[in-house]
Amino acid sequence: MRLVLTGTGASRGMALGRARLEHPSRYLVDERPLEESEVDAEAERLYRAIAIARDELQALREKLHGALAREVAEFIDAHSLMLADRELTSGLFELIRVGRYRASAALKMQRDRLVAVFEAMDDPYLRSRKEDIDHVIGRVQAGLARESSVEERKLAARVGEILVSDTVAPSELVPLAEHGVLGVVLSSGSQVSHSAILARSLHLPMIVAAHQALSHIQDDDLVLIDGERGEIVVHPAAQDLARFRAWQRELAQKGKRLALLRDADTRTLDGTPISLYANAESPADVAQARTLGAAGVGLYRTEFLFLQRKEIPSEDEQFLAYRDLVLGMGGLPVTIRTLDLGADKADASGLVMDDEENPALGVRGVRLTLRHPQILAVQLRAILRASGYGPVRILVPMVSTVEEMTSVRRLLKECARDLRSAGHEIAEHIELGAMIEVPAAAIALGGMIKSLDFVAIGTNDLIQYTLAVDRNNDHLANLYDPLHPAVLKLLAQTIATAQRAKRRVTLCGEMAGDRRYTALLLALGLTDFSMHPGLLLEVRETVNALHREPLRAQATALLRAPTRARIERVVENLKKAVG
Ligand code: PEP
Ligand code: MG
Repeated sequence: MRLVLTGTGASRGMALGRARLEHPSRYLVDERPLEESEVDAEAERLYRAIAIARDELQALREKLHGALAREVAEFIDAHSLMLADRELTSGLFELIRVGRYRASAALKMQRDRLVAVFEAMDDPYLRSRKEDIDHVIGRVQAGLARESSVEERKLAARVGEILVSDTVAPSELVPLAEHGVLGVVLSSGSQVSHSAILARSLHLPMIVAAHQALSHIQDDDLVLIDGERGEIVVHPAAQDLARFRAWQRELAQKGKRLALLRDADTRTLDGTPISLYANAESPADVAQARTLGAAGVGLYRTEFLFLQRKEIPSEDEQFLAYRDLVLGMGGLPVTIRTLDLGADKADASGLVMDDEENPALGVRGVRLTLRHPQILAVQLRAILRASGYGPVRILVPMVSTVEEMTSVRRLLKECARDLRSAGHEIAEHIELGAMIEVPAAAIALGGMIKSLDFVAIGTNDLIQYTLAVDRNNDHLANLYDPLHPAVLKLLAQTIATAQRAKRRVTLCGEMAGDRRYTALLLALGLTDFSMHPGLLLEVRETVNALHREPLRAQATALLRAPTRARIERVVENLKKAVG
């Protein structure tokens, strides 16, 4: 029967496909039967995964402290007992040895069997304990997944599917898209998570915070998702399919309309030129940025080179990636950001600390790279070598003190000197800038600006840190507000401080590519925007229909408005600047 579920749209576009559920307990299940010769090794893998799960639980228990420690410890003990339960484990090994199932498939079968037993119970409390089965089995699946080869995980993905899960790591998305997954529905998550950013970059429709998705969608259900509205239709009816086809036609028409703007300038109606840069993550983004007339690359997030692998990419490998990026942009400026691992961008190489209580406030971005100067030096050398092929700027993430910039600049100078004396052709001068995404940096920018050649505002983080709202926490999505008066004040102040000091200031957070905020950002004085290349033409269309001066005249009213409602009213007025 047709069923409509809702969540939050995180990556636009519609997709129609078969649902593939990846409950935390399921992960990517490999259904291929085992050969006899593989049975022992597979059983061994399962032993190891169970041991990993047991060790993790033990480690977790040892870290407990505070008011709830005793209650939580009881849960953990119950889970540890389940892992030792012969009923659970002997059944699993039998499925591998006799049934010739792979470990992931055996875990899934065992989970489904046990859950069916719990679901048949009359007592609602006992029935709800099936969650414990999911947690325990999910932990073992995670252990297995960490061991399994990328190849195996890729095999498990199938063409024409919509992935339905609780979360998805940024590193999982690329192989999923490459293997034909059409869209993603997550029961948690937010629009500004790195997975959502990457999904937009991959043009993969995504819906987050669809709380009912895992309980209301079954494997192989036909689902239609709308990544703009955040709507999921399970078993779509004729009217939904008609809407899907209408959307496809509309997309083609919009494409034609925007295509006319490919070669147009970006300029307000009263003549101010505006620079639209691209946030580029992949070679496809670079190609799109070029064809759509981006002014350059305003943000290249290098961590995506590091995410899908266990070892850290070598200087030569990084150099080739950066050089190709620079060459691909054909002489336009390219801003390469040093590694911003940490928080939700965890790597597989073990560089990121995994035991921080507050990783978003922890060893992330420049804090991490300054603790590993060797890794930063390798990256800076690779970027410097690429600077011999076209204009390059270096951008440092998560800066909160002048001293951090001084340390990076010192290292950059040393690397440049070494490279020159080794005979490398590198740029005479290379600009070094900071992401302004920690409120401290925005507030104290006046004192820091001399140490910076340019500034890039990262609103994704600036909003989360200013408002103390985790950008990935869907329970707080209504508080994650780009229009909060404090955010607007910091934006206005940062733009003005940089412009007074004659430093270029770009905004490269998700706000830059959202045409709802274009007039507002012009009003605050911004002239350089950096966004996903797929959004360039829309923003160009918006800019080219606005007068800048009347917008600038509204800046004071915007900054004086004390409430969200008043700000919204001023933003509504801004639209009157349309020609
Ligand atoms: C930002 O914080 O706005 C930003 C552009 O960086 P990231 O999203 O990679 O943290
Ligand atoms: Mg950031």
